[in-house]
Amino acid sequence: MDELFLKSVPILEKIEQAGFEAYFVGGSVRDYILGRAINDVDIATSATPLEIKEVFPNTADIGIDHGTVLAITPSGTYEITTFRTEGGYSDFRRPDSVQFVRSLTEDLQRRDFTMNAIAMDKGGNIIDPFNGRRDLSEQRIITVGNPHERFHEDALRMMRALRFVSQLGFELDHDTFHSLQVNAPIIGKIAVERILVEFEKLMAGTYKKRAIALLLESGLYQYLPKLSDKKDHLKNVLNLPLHHLKAAELWSVIMVKTKDDEMEAALRAWKLPLKTIRNIQRIVQLIKQEPSFEKSSFEVFQAGHDLTVQAAKVKASLTGGNVIEAEESGQQQYEALTIKTMSELDVTGTDLVNWRQEKPGPWVKAYLEMIVKAVLDGELRNDKEEIMRWLVKCNLS
Ligand code: ATP
Ligand code: MG
Repeated sequence: MDELFLKSVPILEKIEQAGFEAYFVGGSVRDYILGRAINDVDIATSATPLEIKEVFPNTADIGIDHGTVLAITPSGTYEITTFRTEGGYSDFRRPDSVQFVRSLTEDLQRRDFTMNAIAMDKGGNIIDPFNGRRDLSEQRIITVGNPHERFHEDALRMMRALRFVSQLGFELDHDTFHSLQVNAPIIGKIAVERILVEFEKLMAGTYKKRAIALLLESGLYQYLPKLSDKKDHLKNVLNLPLHHLKAAELWSVIMVKTKDDEMEAALRAWKLPLKTIRNIQRIVQLIKQEPSFEKSSFEVFQAGHDLTVQAAKVKASLTGGNVIEAEESGQQQYEALTIKTMSELDVTGTDLVNWRQEKPGPWVKAYLEMIVKAVLDGELRNDKEEIMRWLVKCNLS
């Protein structure tokens, strides 16, 4: 067993000692069978949330209505979820009610895909009533039960199917894909925040091109915020090197053809954090603003490390270049700067005010920029005395 599971076995034992069943479930079991790295383990149990709170002295009610309690233990924190089935789904999203049950199989049955409906006990024995292991070995994503019903219960599962394609490179089962095509419009019922979580995982996946192709092929893209008119652009994006792009960089590639005000509206419609929106806008601005590939030292200085590297990568991707090389060259360009921040300059605004005996004003910033440019271009050494002499020479003193 993986170390993370071994470390967590005492948690299962503790629940069992109290007279309940407990298993590892969900993504960690799937990834363990696939030999992929595991980040956290999810635990499912026959104990109710209140019973779990009696077993562990220190807990937090993170999703107690849905049966999840966070147990805070010396060996770490664990999400422990009571076996449950889900009541009616009147609105294509999340159940109207959840019902706690005592049967593991019933709990596994409500899960989205067979590969996510596998449990493992403390001894490493696998419980797999829906043949998830077979589908894992055949690299197939298939819903537990009828896909049409499962997507109607919770339309987010369609988005999840494609993000798993992106992460794992698996094929979608034929019926599951067909059902996704037919039911694509109901993704519109899902809160954008939930879609965004899956979309960003999709964007980060190794097989993102395959997933984007399926977004197009299934028609699902039409019902995602502000993507309905981007079919041709998204098709072009599939021909670009995307592999090494991070989420904000891929957003930039997707948005680069969008007018500035529409881009802001689109990114807001996706409910991206404002900080991320500003970052994407700056990347796109940088790319649009300089026609040649090379940025001047001053532009690099102004953009700073992260933006310089991000813009270089996005530019390389858009021009079909080598993204990794662009990343390195962006980094080198930044490293090569003689000074990296205004505060490294050997003179300050106050120095300028004192030398010129003039009231502070916008001229201070203009002067400082001039000096920085000269220092970055190698025209002037970053040395107080020399800077002063330079100002005299330029008739600026
Ligand atoms: P990751 O490794 O990205 O966390 P995951 O499979 O663990 O992938 P989660 O979103 O953490 O995905 O969900 C944990 C488990 O809960 C899933 O493996 C699945 O069994 C179940 N699950 C999550 N979301 C849904 C859903 N919308 N419908 C049905 N089951 C779900
Ligand atoms: Mg998970």
